[in-house]
Amino acid sequence: MHQLMAAPFLEQHVLVRPGSRGGALLPETRYDELRALDPSEPAPPWLAQAVTERWPDLDVTDQFLGGVLLRPPSVERKWINGWCWRCEASDVPVLWVGPIQSLEYGEAPFNCCLPCIRRLEALVFAHQRT
Ligand SMILES: [Zn+2]
Repeated sequence: MHQLMAAPFLEQHVLVRPGSRGGALLPETRYDELRALDPSEPAPPWLAQAVTERWPDLDVTDQFLGGVLLRPPSVERKWINGWCWRCEASDVPVLWVGPIQSLEYGEAPFNCCLPCIRRLEALVFAHQRT
């Protein structure tokens, strides 16, 4: 298992550690940089520093990027007309906010409408401060 994962989350980008609560926000430029780097290259120094600041017990200095970080597929996030998985409104503009996983049925794209995205952002904000 990778130690870290970088992913788009709601309208931001985050660095998360499986099994660890919370995460670190990634500026979009850093997120794009991680996506563009060769996985066989060492983790960039700024990443190692950000990781150690967030998780003092984890040091990825000089480790291969592909060994420590799972990067998302290149998915361009666009508003599409569809069905909101949260409020079940149909034929509304929705945005992919991430995969949703079912133990029985696998993965599905979790799309939400703008009011639901705003509510999820408020919940994430509250979660990060508890
Ligand atoms: Zn909704």
